[in-house]
Amino acid sequence: MTIHTARVTTKTATIEQVKMYLPSNYRAFDVDEEIFIQGFDAAGWTFNDYIVPRLASGMIFLTTECEECTVPYDEHDEGCDACVALKPDVPTGSISHGTHRTVDLLDAFLGFLEMQRPALYDEVLYAGGDAAQAWRLGWLHDDQDVALAAADEWLSEDVWSAMESIAPAGHTFGAHEGDGADFGYWPIDEDED
Ligand SMILES: [Zn+2]
Repeated sequence: MTIHTARVTTKTATIEQVKMYLPSNYRAFDVDEEIFIQGFDAAGWTFNDYIVPRLASGMIFLTTECEECTVPYDEHDEGCDACVALKPDVPTGSISHGTHRTVDLLDAFLGFLEMQRPALYDEVLYAGGDAAQAWRLGWLHDDQDVALAAADEWLSEDVWSAMESIAPAGHTFGAHEGDGADFGYWPIDEDED
């Protein structure tokens, strides 16, 4: 999973203008009056070979580096104020409770991703192929075996690793140690005894 993040440096550009240039695998949004774009590379729609030149053709320019800490947004994991505003910690605690059904877990985790990390959500759906399509169309609720096998794999690989990748510092994603059907972000127990 690789998400690209950049900030629009052209001060006269509006978010509506920026959106007109973006393919569906990239999103535009604003944080503290700055316009950002974020997305993943799919087929020929890549950051370097498509997004940057396409926006430049409209006289809209980008930087991938944080103005405050001068670290590239995508390599930043500590967080100056500007970076933290761009990528706030996700809420901790329970996300899905009382079920091990694949479709219920997908509904809960993907709903969470869409809300918290829209570009990552887009990438996970893209990676899911037919399973993602079946989920979107509501077919998994029918418990069809063929769709469910692919959905199980998608859940345990792409969806799970996306959820793990955004765990706030000191927390891990998974089942609660006291309740195996309570999934969310739980504090890592520092005590080894
Ligand atoms: Zn920064």
